[in-house]
Amino acid sequence: LKVNEFDLIDLFTSYFRTRPPPRGPGDDAAYVPDLRNLCVTTDVIVENVHFERRFFSAEEIGHKALAVNLSDLAAMGAKPAWFLVSLCLPERTLESEIRGMALGMSRLARSLRIELVGGNVSKAGELSISICAAGTARRPLTRSGGRPGDVLYLSGTMGDARLGLKLLRASGGPRLNEPVRRQKRPHPRVRLGLIAARFARAAIDISDGFAQDLAHLCKASRLGAIVNVDRLPLSRGVRATFGAGAVDWALAGGEDYELLIAVAPSRATAFERECARVGEKITRVGQLTAARKILFQGAGGKSHTMPAGYDHFRPFD
Ligand SMILES: [Mg+2]
Repeated sequence: LKVNEFDLIDLFTSYFRTRPPPRGPGDDAAYVPDLRNLCVTTDVIVENVHFERRFFSAEEIGHKALAVNLSDLAAMGAKPAWFLVSLCLPERTLESEIRGMALGMSRLARSLRIELVGGNVSKAGELSISICAAGTARRPLTRSGGRPGDVLYLSGTMGDARLGLKLLRASGGPRLNEPVRRQKRPHPRVRLGLIAARFARAAIDISDGFAQDLAHLCKASRLGAIVNVDRLPLSRGVRATFGAGAVDWALAGGEDYELLIAVAPSRATAFERECARVGEKITRVGQLTAARKILFQGAGGKSHTMPAGYDHFRPFD
């Protein structure tokens, strides 16, 4: 790393559209006076824990660091507004890598019209990016808002990001197809979260795997669920790779960053219609139940249960 700390900050922030003081970045703290109903989250991605340098470009690291935070805001039904970023950089980091991270992060930020308002840089043993992102929600969605009978919807498809990681590890290097793209460039469902805020009662993002995150939602709502496993949205890639084992794979797959949404039956049709109108793909996968267990039901009576909150699957082998 040849640039000094202050040049590094200038270099990084030059990729973002910024506002004059006192808004930030550039002062000792960011000044954001104009937000009510604030929703705030923080998440960090760490080299060799959340990503490996041999698989991820600098742009992809920058993108993913912001995307995982925005997914949490989406799950709350929040409209993202601004974020702070802390870069921990090893001595060997190249200027081109800093530019790459800034580029990947700023592209995602611009596409959602959110602002970088401040941050920090530090030397470190390994690369990590910590972000604090905030948005607004007039009526925040929580995990605990579900009621018995609510219809469960899942956005997109599941199991792909886990398959992407498996493919990357098998090939030992960069390779691009849809599952790999899902692993490296997850797309936070911000627009869907805003729709859900108008129609739904509870939501969570699928970062730890469908089974795990459904259990979190059920536990917080003090409910159980029936899931129709034949309806689970699996991509062609996941089906083709795992055949009969595809459902189990997808249930345990982490990092999909899709939204699991619980909607009152009376609002279900209106929710589906609005999603169809704007082109957000959702699938009805089951419903919440008063009985506090999670039942996975398939054709031919094949089913298995697990208690809500039970840590049955490990996200990665
Ligand atoms: Mg989450």
